[in-house]
Amino acid sequence: MQQTVKLQPAQAYQAPRFTVYQHRQIDKIEQLDKLPEHLRFEMKVVANVFPFRVNNFVIEELIDWHKVPNDPVFQLTFPQRGMLDDESYEQMAALLKRSHTAEEVFQLATQIRHRLNPHPAGQMEKNVPEYGGERVEGIQHKYKETVLFFPSQGQYCHSYCTFCFRWAQFVGKATRFNNNDEDLLHNYLAEHKEVTDLLMTGGDPMVMRTVKLRKYLEALTEPRFDHIKTIRIGTKSLTFWPFRYVTDPDAKELLALLAELVNAGKHVSIMAHVNHKQELRTDITKEAIRLIRKTGAQIRTQAPLLNNINVDSQMWSDMWKEQTQMGMIPYYMFIERDTGAKRYFELPLYRTWEIFRDAYKNVSGVSRTVRGPSMSAGPGKVEISGVAQIHGEKVFVLRFIQARNPDWVQQPFFAQYDEKATWLNDLKPAFGEEKFFWEDEYNAM
Ligand SMILES: *Cc1c(COP(=O)(O)O)cnc(C)c1O
Repeated sequence: MQQTVKLQPAQAYQAPRFTVYQHRQIDKIEQLDKLPEHLRFEMKVVANVFPFRVNNFVIEELIDWHKVPNDPVFQLTFPQRGMLDDESYEQMAALLKRSHTAEEVFQLATQIRHRLNPHPAGQMEKNVPEYGGERVEGIQHKYKETVLFFPSQGQYCHSYCTFCFRWAQFVGKATRFNNNDEDLLHNYLAEHKEVTDLLMTGGDPMVMRTVKLRKYLEALTEPRFDHIKTIRIGTKSLTFWPFRYVTDPDAKELLALLAELVNAGKHVSIMAHVNHKQELRTDITKEAIRLIRKTGAQIRTQAPLLNNINVDSQMWSDMWKEQTQMGMIPYYMFIERDTGAKRYFELPLYRTWEIFRDAYKNVSGVSRTVRGPSMSAGPGKVEISGVAQIHGEKVFVLRFIQARNPDWVQQPFFAQYDEKATWLNDLKPAFGEEKFFWEDEYNAM
């Protein structure tokens, strides 16, 4: 797809009306009319379990409808039959085919969701800190130097991704991480001098109006926050609603806020989630990138490797090169987490390593800022560094990129090679060891 590279002034861009479709509006999406009826029914079944929300820009500009159902952005946003196991699918399909109440659908959906590990990697029990003797809802503090904050107003997205490991944020209030108390966030940060990074996450903080975002971030320029060096904002908006930075009514105020933080000496990084290079093709995204970079903020990119969406090393190396060219910094390639629709998107670990390696070896050093493939697991971020043969035993070589105990970082450890393993808990220590070096300490945490 050839696109013009010449950047136009911002006022030349038409601001489209933002329209979203949720699961009850599947029949209103014209583009789906051409699909076989059974595919639409399958979508409705799955959309009663997993969150579904897609906007007009994704539908009109990012999906190539002639490639559907195999189009990567279609797979990324529209529910797929394979996301549910057969039993759950049949249960929900049967219920929808007979007369039913909303309450019955909700009950069944809740049951199915409980089977899908909604809160992986101990995030409920192990990551939520205390302040003044109470759990601070809406904060996760797993790694010493970085605090995650989930602003209440940012706990949805412009469009939802089918694979999203945060899917539980969107299906019920009871277990949602969120907080709208900026004082609590500020007091917590002021008290924790070991913290250097604040990571605003969600959902997507960029769905918030700038005034709301400012309420959380502006204060960080005060001297009591001198230890907070870096402000990261995790977002999908750069490709799914780039108008946020260009034509939205408060786009200018947003850019001004970023510039203000940069001018106050903060490192500001937009952590852009980009799953496929197809998402980068629009002029409006290129303009958003240019405007963000003009503020002095950086843009880093990250995404998991996903079956049915981006299992293509050539695509990854092209994407990293293109991102570098556009002024972004490739940061992480993740492994699909053990939650939600993992069954549809997972790949064996050895494959993730092969694909990462094939992509990585084809880019120059400036794009090798990317790390991975990495599992965000209970004890930390574990990288598959390689597959090796050591004294006749085939093993995975692993290392922590990030760990609950910083001492575990950068110490290689070894697991028995296993072609079926898709996650850390499938792995067994190599060389006849009973456990990994970090296991006792982790279990005691
Ligand atoms: C990934 C992650 C971070 C950030 O880790 P970096 O290596 O600094 O990018 C922080 N907290 C949690 C819970 C994470 O999963």
